[in-house]
Amino acid sequence: MLSGPVPPRTVPSGLAPPATIQDSRSDALTRRAALEAYAAETAACTQCRLAQGRTQVVFGVGDPDADLMFVGEAPGFHEDKQGYPFVGSAGKLLDRLLEGIGLTRSDVYIANVLMCRPPGNRDPQPDEIAACEVHLFRKIELIEPKLIATLGNFATKLLSGKPHGITRVHGRPQEATLGGRSVTLFPIYHPAAALYTPAMLKTLEEDFARIPALLEGEPAVPPPAPVAAAVIPFPAVAAAVPAQPADEQLGLF
Ligand code: URA
Repeated sequence: MLSGPVPPRTVPSGLAPPATIQDSRSDALTRRAALEAYAAETAACTQCRLAQGRTQVVFGVGDPDADLMFVGEAPGFHEDKQGYPFVGSAGKLLDRLLEGIGLTRSDVYIANVLMCRPPGNRDPQPDEIAACEVHLFRKIELIEPKLIATLGNFATKLLSGKPHGITRVHGRPQEATLGGRSVTLFPIYHPAAALYTPAMLKTLEEDFARIPALLEGEPAVPPPAPVAAAVIPFPAVAAAVPAQPADEQLGLF
């Protein structure tokens, strides 16, 4: 039973969203504005030789408030022309894989290790990665994703800080600290590598299918399986078990 008069509602329900929703909307707007400002700041970057041959800087695309981020290698021909990552044939495969887990590219954020196209799509060079990594780390800091799927060797090695190649580590989530926060890295094959190799495509699809569970917080490193019974060294077991007639011992099984 109520002990006093019910205070009048000052804000009728339905007129204003609860404070937490307002907060997350303003967070998203702040994030978008910060990313746009950062994109404008880096649009004329000349920190490495790739500035000379590019059409434009390919900053990144997608939801600045995304929980899931993809990091590829570097823009190719089409990305350099259009200014967005993954718009060529590898991008079409990425779209298809996203669709398979009920997402579109507007639900995620997509960036690359390098923001400028290497000539002839050659591999990124160490000094180019070193010059560009600050921009990727800043994007991660602003977006604050929960899960980063690293596509292929370059993104995986850069963000994990480990030399292990993608063939060894694909499909194995790992915890990392990036942008001052804990984030799960999920290394997977690069879609361009899977385009013409059916076995790799199958593995990529299988790894991709695990993304929804990882977004739901499936632990990156599964907890150890429960130990059924303590293992006692042989002489100790012999000493601990009283001698019994053979037929009684059989009753244990
Ligand atoms: N490959 C990448 O790594 N990034 C792109 O944007 C396109 C192809």
